Amino acid sequence: MGQSTKYIFVTGGVTSSLGKGIISASLAKLLQSRGYSVTIQKLDPYINVDPGTLNPYEHGECFVTEDGAETDLDLGHYERFLNVPTSQANNVTTGKIYQSVINKERQGEYLGKTVQIIPHITDEIKHRIKLLGNKGEYDVVITEIGGTVGDIESLPYVETVRQLKWEQQSNCIVIHLTLVPYLSASGELKTKPTQHSVKQLLELGVQPDILVCRTEKHLGRELRDKIARFCNVSPQAVIESIDAETIYDVPILMKNEELDKVVCEKLNIPLKSEPDLTTWNEFLYRFKNPEGSIKIALVGKYIELKDSYKSIVESFIHAGAANHTKVKLVWIHSENLNEDNVEEKLKGVRGILVAPGFGSRGIEGKISAIKYARENNVPFLGICLGMQCAVIEFARNVLGYKDAHTMEIDLNTTHPVIHLMSSQMNVTKKGGTMRLGAYPCDIKEGTKAREIYRKEHITERHRHRYEFNNEYLAAYEKAGMVASGINPDGNLVEMVEIPSHPWFVGVQYHPEYKSTVLKPHPLFVSFVKAALTVPEV
Ligand code: GLN
Repeated sequence: MGQSTKYIFVTGGVTSSLGKGIISASLAKLLQSRGYSVTIQKLDPYINVDPGTLNPYEHGECFVTEDGAETDLDLGHYERFLNVPTSQANNVTTGKIYQSVINKERQGEYLGKTVQIIPHITDEIKHRIKLLGNKGEYDVVITEIGGTVGDIESLPYVETVRQLKWEQQSNCIVIHLTLVPYLSASGELKTKPTQHSVKQLLELGVQPDILVCRTEKHLGRELRDKIARFCNVSPQAVIESIDAETIYDVPILMKNEELDKVVCEKLNIPLKSEPDLTTWNEFLYRFKNPEGSIKIALVGKYIELKDSYKSIVESFIHAGAANHTKVKLVWIHSENLNEDNVEEKLKGVRGILVAPGFGSRGIEGKISAIKYARENNVPFLGICLGMQCAVIEFARNVLGYKDAHTMEIDLNTTHPVIHLMSSQMNVTKKGGTMRLGAYPCDIKEGTKAREIYRKEHITERHRHRYEFNNEYLAAYEKAGMVASGINPDGNLVEMVEIPSHPWFVGVQYHPEYKSTVLKPHPLFVSFVKAALTVPEV
């Protein structure tokens, strides 16, 4: 473990969904603005090797890092808050831990020993935590332990925290996030669940240093003292985390509660400068005081669970604030959309985003939405499958290839305008086998894409198997859909646009993974701007 690296563990008690990710990201933001370099890691207790094979309904969006890891959506929050990219090492699952321990066992690395949860699994967890600290890049590593203390799945993680705390002493602290529920019948806030959850941690040998208490009402001094007394923490280490209007308020709330100060004291590190949150506050002001609002349709097939499109939603928040407007997303289920109702369903929206996705469900609805956007000059942004659908729509309705399709869905089409890359032909495994992570893209001069990015060379993150079929490129360009961005290594089409349309852009990559509070993504900013300026149909 790097001598100077400090470790902060964030555990959760009482219930799930208390927002450990947001608390971790907010604390990281504050420490970062005090002048520390910070990274955040998420340890997920499920057995999937990564969330890449999880249906979005199960676990929300799969977030992709620069180096091509398919990760938990909390990593998206970390990047959006910190404006620093994460990597493979920032998300570890039980599946990954067991996979490497079992691989080592098969290679005889344990020299005949019985392989056990303690020490082999816990050592592997420790190793994954130290990987980030040992890089020498970070003063502080914040490790969020997924799940709730007391779950069978998270036991090895809590045990690892116990060991590390013992080994590292003052280099290591534990923040426990709990709930202080309000009972409306008696009009009281209740501390018992917090007491019990701390007791549960203590039974596992871990004494938390700081308690962050989620609550709907303010915690008074008396109540904080009571929690402190019952849970062996200092009164100033009982931090209130009141329900916030937006997740972007949380760093400010945590600053007011002096969470970062208490953390610095407990870790014995200097406070350095006062956090400078000027740009953050400017963003918050613009976000909370929009000059107007605008409706943009988000067409997708997982819309019942809004977390499936987390990064897209957040990108619109960033881009809306940049445009001084509130983007009101109109969620449209692509399965319920067809040629007959598309006009009725999309009337009044000023922009249409067709979302990424896999498989055939809802694809014809996406194509209908794109046809509507193209024919009615409604600003359109297609992401990944959304871009592929735009290519299919153009083939069918402009080029006249009536059965044009993607080979993902129709292997017998006479016009496979989207096809499988040759490198993917022989891949049979599902997990981690797509074109993943950051790839370069060259943007052609004179295109809308170039106007938007104001750069020739960019890199963007990918997560897909299928690609634009270059055999058709000449026909598309002749008919008015141009390839404005190309991957220089494989000559792959990364961006398409229709120059005769006010704003029609499809991208094979996922711009939403790179939008942050400090750097709203230019494509989203330009799309929202177009939605504000292109006359309504
Ligand atoms: N299913 C498509 C492919 O694999 C698109 C993937 C996506 O939208 N992320 O190419």
